Amino acid sequence: MKMMRKTAVCLAAILLLTLGFGGCGISQEPETRTVFAMDTVITLTAYGKNAGSALDAAVQKLNDYDVLLDVDSGDIGAINENAGEFVGVSGEVYKLLSDCVEFSRQTDGAFDITVGRYVELWGFRSQTRVPSDEEIAEAEEFIGWEQIELADGKVKIPEGMQLDLGAVAKGFVAGKLKQLLTEYGVTSAILSLGGNVTTLGKKPDGTQFVVAIRDPNDADAYLDTVQVSDSAVVTSGSYMRWFEQDGVRYHHIIDPKTGKPADSGLVSVTVICTDDTAADAYATAFFVMGAEKTSEFLKSHPEMNAIMVKTSGEIIRIN
Ligand code: AMP
Ligand code: MG
Repeated sequence: MKMMRKTAVCLAAILLLTLGFGGCGISQEPETRTVFAMDTVITLTAYGKNAGSALDAAVQKLNDYDVLLDVDSGDIGAINENAGEFVGVSGEVYKLLSDCVEFSRQTDGAFDITVGRYVELWGFRSQTRVPSDEEIAEAEEFIGWEQIELADGKVKIPEGMQLDLGAVAKGFVAGKLKQLLTEYGVTSAILSLGGNVTTLGKKPDGTQFVVAIRDPNDADAYLDTVQVSDSAVVTSGSYMRWFEQDGVRYHHIIDPKTGKPADSGLVSVTVICTDDTAADAYATAFFVMGAEKTSEFLKSHPEMNAIMVKTSGEIIRIN
């Protein structure tokens, strides 16, 4: 991965410029589909002769996953609705939930899909508000990844617990869409799902894709760019979803240990690695863990690179 510093330029413009370059290799016009799904604007771009049909299939699959992974529908909805009982789920969801439990173990619970009750309390699914300490304390007993039971393709959570896959769903889906494009014979694509960007192969001209990393303080500016191929570039940031009450800003990434928005001194974390699901999960976890713990963690994870932005504006790059 090579990084370059640039001054503020519109992120969208950069991506389009980058994608538009034909270079001296196989010059191909990209096929693009833009849809709203998973609570965000999603842009899928692919090159090559099957790109159009592959993207149409990807859009269909995207909508299926949107239902499958939502808190209120599909497999996750069924687990939540039947809390207290074992529920049969698809092989894909079973594997994803097993991975989630492992991410929790690896990050000492900084990543935890059982934060559903906290997310609900803070109103990030409906009307945002600051809950009382009593409400947080009451919800606490229904939080804890260790209580997820996985056996023979079935999943059980305790009564009162709610799974929320918001921190990992887009990464998981990005990986699955990439797989689908590969099955259609596509070898070059870039998919953008909110803060999740993933790349398949290289650009048709043989160069790497350039992904801009947004300046957390300015939606029209970027801090850095990364050059990648076959990799995910996933950002978790407090600027992505937040509300203000009595002059205080509250964001959507919860520290499972406090039930409150994580206050680790970071405003954004970007993770770059080949595994889309892991990139998404770890970006959220690192945001909760903060710069020091994350730097320590990454010493034993050379497969992952990270760019962290502190509240002070300091940028820490680990690779
Ligand atoms: P992301 O944007 O990938 O960092 O995911 C944030 C979303 O994941 C939130 O909107 C919540 O739905 C959920 N979430 C919040 N905090 C956590 C956490 N510590 N672990 C797992 N999921 C979380
Ligand atoms: Mg995430």
